[in-house]
Amino acid sequence: MEELPVSVTMTDAKATAQAWIDDHLGELSAFHQQIFGHAESAWREYRSAADYVELLRREGFDVEAGSGEMPTAFAARWGSGGPVLGGYAEYDAVPGNSQRSVPYRAPRSGLHPWAPGHTDPHSALGVGALCGVLAAKHAMERHRIPGTLVFFGEPAEKVCGSKPVHAAKGYYDHLDAAISYHPMLTNTTIWDTQCGSYWSCVFTFECFDPPWGRPELLATPGRVHTIPRSPGALDAVCLMYTTTKFTKENMFPHTGTWTMNEYLMVGGLATSDNLTPPISQIQYSWRSPDLGIQEQLFGVLENNARHVAAVTNCEVRVRWVTKTRVGLTNHVMAQLAYRNLELVGPPAFGDEAREFAREIQRACDVAAMEDPFTAEAQVVTDPEEEDERFRQALPAWQKNFTSDDYVEYTWHAPTVRLYTAKPSLREPAGWAHWANNALNGLPAAIDPTWTTAGRTVANTFLDLLTEPAVLAAAKAEFEDRTGGGVGGERWVAPLLARDFAPPVDLPWPEYVDTVRGHEWVLPTPGPAGFGERI
Ligand SMILES: [Zn+2]
Repeated sequence: MEELPVSVTMTDAKATAQAWIDDHLGELSAFHQQIFGHAESAWREYRSAADYVELLRREGFDVEAGSGEMPTAFAARWGSGGPVLGGYAEYDAVPGNSQRSVPYRAPRSGLHPWAPGHTDPHSALGVGALCGVLAAKHAMERHRIPGTLVFFGEPAEKVCGSKPVHAAKGYYDHLDAAISYHPMLTNTTIWDTQCGSYWSCVFTFECFDPPWGRPELLATPGRVHTIPRSPGALDAVCLMYTTTKFTKENMFPHTGTWTMNEYLMVGGLATSDNLTPPISQIQYSWRSPDLGIQEQLFGVLENNARHVAAVTNCEVRVRWVTKTRVGLTNHVMAQLAYRNLELVGPPAFGDEAREFAREIQRACDVAAMEDPFTAEAQVVTDPEEEDERFRQALPAWQKNFTSDDYVEYTWHAPTVRLYTAKPSLREPAGWAHWANNALNGLPAAIDPTWTTAGRTVANTFLDLLTEPAVLAAAKAEFEDRTGGGVGGERWVAPLLARDFAPPVDLPWPEYVDTVRGHEWVLPTPGPAGFGERI
């Protein structure tokens, strides 16, 4: 790595921040449990966002709740003058991943077994970033360090939802630097291979004019049930699904990694009749390393949708969910955060976490190990080494890989992508999703992950606030890579319009309150369960 213009050491201000974290571990851990327990999915994180807003207001932040026309987003601000440093929390969970913090497979009780759960986990992501910002704030107060901290609530990361919207609406303008944190498999920062692009849209098929046959040709023309119905919206969505499976391999050569997934948003309306299903909705999400590829993939989808609509007597509309850019790296920021991560050291998973993990191994019929956690989760890894290892699976031309909407920050201010390791099980048993989710909810296992992040974030913010040379170097690199900063010749503008309507009104799954109680949008199964296994 190149030399930073400052040496990264444990200053008095950083020591103050670290001591604040030590003193507030209990409260922060309880807050993490609260968010983990809400387990709300994309665009529906009402309780989680409200908890963050309340906590930040109590801490003296000026909070805009519902920022960017997104009910579960927020923008919180504290301090005055420059530099202006940004960070954020995510808090969306993933449907189908419900799991209690127990060392065997058990979805949360009282809900549909396929209710959401925290996988990444974004619960720890948010609390790690929060921990760093609050600790930095405390040190700024104690040491009279000027500057402004901006902390965003970023919902719906699982559909790359809010950050392209915040970016398009100008929320990241005036940031001097930003830290993006995510729990991962190693402790490091991204060096070169930032995330690629994620686009998503919903096709809605509507059948306005059934039937399409000629009723007068039938023997009993007045009888509704004998009239041939139009194929309609359910057939449209089935054909869209199938047609797209057939065309997928021709959308773009499979020389680099790209993926496309679909999600049936509306398709049934549940009562079978001879009437034509009037509406269906299917969401497509696709990831690739390049914006040109993204356009190409959409072109095929759009073509398929038009043809399918014609075949099924439907009209079709497209509504965009999101469009992200690809990530722009910043070596100064990557190095600064990494040096601070080194100062903090990797997460240490203690006896309680290890014993819990061994119980998981027994539940998976795997011999219990003395140290059930991976080696790479328990050391810090040099970002360049990590990048080299990561790139071994990629073609040389491919600059970006996978997706996450943090990339939106990278085009508005020098940004680092920081990883700390979650409690990851050694193979075999590492594959068990429920085990990963169970560990994410056990304080003894997950708290070391996000506290390591919080400590690193606080230290990095304090260096950026007190060492003008390092911030200047990060900004010079940003200017250079964008060809002149925001608006520069190599700068990429937000892909959504400033007046983009966030897709919060689409039928995303959510928790509901009914006469049956508080439950997942899929009703909690009664004693009959899902019927007989066949
Ligand atoms: Zn994530």
